Amino acid sequence: MCKYWNDRTQNLAPYIPGEQPRDRRFIKLNTNENPYPPSPRVIEAIKEAAGIELRLYPDPACTSLRAAIAERYGVKPEQVFVGNGSDEVLGFAFGAFFADHDPPILFPDITYSFYSVYAGLWGIPYRTIPLADDFSITVSDYVFPSGGIAIPNPNAPTGIPLAVNEVLSLAKCLEKQNKVLILDEAYIEFGGDSAIRHIDDYENLLVVRTLSKSASLAGLRVGYAVGSENLIEGLCRIRDSFNSYTLDRLALAGATAAIRDADYYAEINNKVIATRKRVSQILAELGFTVLPSAANFVFIKAPNISGADVSSELRGRGILVRHFDKARIADFLRVSIGTDEEMDTFLSACRTITGN
Ligand code: PMP
Repeated sequence: MCKYWNDRTQNLAPYIPGEQPRDRRFIKLNTNENPYPPSPRVIEAIKEAAGIELRLYPDPACTSLRAAIAERYGVKPEQVFVGNGSDEVLGFAFGAFFADHDPPILFPDITYSFYSVYAGLWGIPYRTIPLADDFSITVSDYVFPSGGIAIPNPNAPTGIPLAVNEVLSLAKCLEKQNKVLILDEAYIEFGGDSAIRHIDDYENLLVVRTLSKSASLAGLRVGYAVGSENLIEGLCRIRDSFNSYTLDRLALAGATAAIRDADYYAEINNKVIATRKRVSQILAELGFTVLPSAANFVFIKAPNISGADVSSELRGRGILVRHFDKARIADFLRVSIGTDEEMDTFLSACRTITGN
């Protein structure tokens, strides 16, 4: 608390990001980064961009990156927005499409914890809808008048995917109310089914993606949204009332190269998926509860030992995972999928900790 803070600042409940340790080398399975390096073409493109042109502002329209994304998904560049990480894109989207005077917006009770933060920042009322007992999202629970819906597919931190027809049923229901569905596909490339091909059918559907996980570029900070031209223009209005240059020259060059190197990324992400399957099976054999994940992490519960204890035991062995001290999931841990070698170290620590 500080006497110089206005009411807005005082009332914020900011997001707390996962730990990025600097003092010690850990096996980092706590923030869902990709364990494999970015495409070599990305590094080349960034090196090439790191020249005297840095004295000039970047392209505010982000033309080449938006063209590359549009080409990849068979949409128009006017249907693509890019931003400084999908967090920024989501934050702009909440400000652009949800309103303080509308009925509450809806999102799951267990989901990405930034949604309630954006709602708080923009003064948007929200209501959380409980996940089912098996931690899945029941779309019929969202079918009533609301100010809009934000939902990740797959959900985080559970990793459980939704079928596209279920996602579209939400868009359809909101369309009748003139409200927007923000569909956060941060982890879709690890086995889920994207709704991008349906954006021309639903003018109120905004699909948000990130290069942080599947393009192994968490350090570059690039996210994007695909949707109707009207939704994209709404996002541009918010951005251009805040900062016209959210992506710098290096990020634009690197991200464009990443979008164009789909083959490289299919290869590394298939490795992540294969490792996830193997690790899930072994954890289940060790007596862990393992939710069915379509993401680059698994959400797990150890037999007979609390989530907080497993997390601190792992930390003592040099392995970081994410623990959320929250009702219903306090005994669960979100474990990012690392390389096979890292996961073998993690699995043997789990065997020791659970006495298996
Ligand atoms: N959505 C979800 C569901 C996430 O887990 C994350 C990562 N914390 C993001 C969006 C944001 O990713 P980024 O800002 O790195 O693009």
